[in-house]
Amino acid sequence: MKEKILQLVRFQTESTESWGVQTDEGVRDLGAILKTCPTMLDAIGQWEQLGSQVESVLRDAPLLSDCQLLSPLPESGKTICIGLNYRDHAIETGADIPTEPVVFNKLAGTVCGPDDEIPLPQVSQQVDYEAELVLVIGKHAWNVDEREADDFIFGYMCGHDVSARDWQKGRPGGQWLLGKSFPNFAPTGPYLVPKSEIADPCNLRIQMRLNGETYQDSNTGQLIFSPSQLIAHLSQCTILQPGDLVFTGTPPGVGAARNPPRFLTPGDVCEVEVEGLGVLRNPVVAAQQ
Ligand code: ZN
Repeated sequence: MKEKILQLVRFQTESTESWGVQTDEGVRDLGAILKTCPTMLDAIGQWEQLGSQVESVLRDAPLLSDCQLLSPLPESGKTICIGLNYRDHAIETGADIPTEPVVFNKLAGTVCGPDDEIPLPQVSQQVDYEAELVLVIGKHAWNVDEREADDFIFGYMCGHDVSARDWQKGRPGGQWLLGKSFPNFAPTGPYLVPKSEIADPCNLRIQMRLNGETYQDSNTGQLIFSPSQLIAHLSQCTILQPGDLVFTGTPPGVGAARNPPRFLTPGDVCEVEVEGLGVLRNPVVAAQQ
C-alpha cells in the first residue's frame, strides 16, 4: 500500500459545490482552479491528461477551512450491484457458489455521501448492513473483453448496500429491487481513489463496524468475480458510462445471517472501511413520517 494515497472528494461549501483532494491540511479545491474541469465527472473524463498534473497544481488550489463532503459521484448514472460475490458470504447464506454474477440495481434516490443519515423505512423491520467495494466506471464501455476491462475502471470507493431483507426476499417475481432502493440506501465515499493508487483491488481488507464493533471483516481476495470479470460481463448487456457505480458484493457477517439476527436500529453508527479507501460513516435514524 502506498504511503500517501490520492483521495479525491466532492464537497459543498456555503457558496459552491466542487471537487478536490483531501490532504493532511484539509480539502484543496481543484474545481476552482482547473477551468476546464469544474466537476468530478469532468475530472474523470480528463484524467488521462490531468492525473499526472494533480500533484503539481495541488499547492495552488485553495485550502478550504470548512466544507461538507458529498458522495464522490452525484447520482447521475447507473447504480449496479452484484449479489453473493464473496465465496465466504455465499457459504454463510447457504447459497450455491454462483457460476455467473447475480446482478441487480438500485433506483435513484439511494446514493448519498459520508455522514448522511440512513432513515429506517416505516414499512421494514429488517434493515441490514452490507460493506462493499464500489467500482467507478471511467470510460464508455460496451462489449469489453475481460483482458482489457481494467482500462474502463476509473477508481474505487467504499460503499454500503443497505438492504431491507423483508422487501428483498420472498417478494413477487423474486425481485430484490424495492428492498434495495429506499432513500439513502447507497452511501458511498468518503473518497474516490484512482485505480493507479491501488496495487491490487483483489487484496484489500474490507470491514463493517456498528457502533465501533466489527461485524464484517474479510478481504476482496474472496471475490468470486473480479472487477475485470464484472465489467466484461455487465458490458455485454448494458453500456457502462463514466460515473456509473458497481457495488461488488458483501462479505460474511450480515445481520440476517446472525443468530439471533442483528438488524439496524435508530442510533446505530455504521462504518465501512476498505483498505486504502477511508472510512464511510453513516448514522441510522428512525423512520421519517
Ligand atoms: Zn450487496
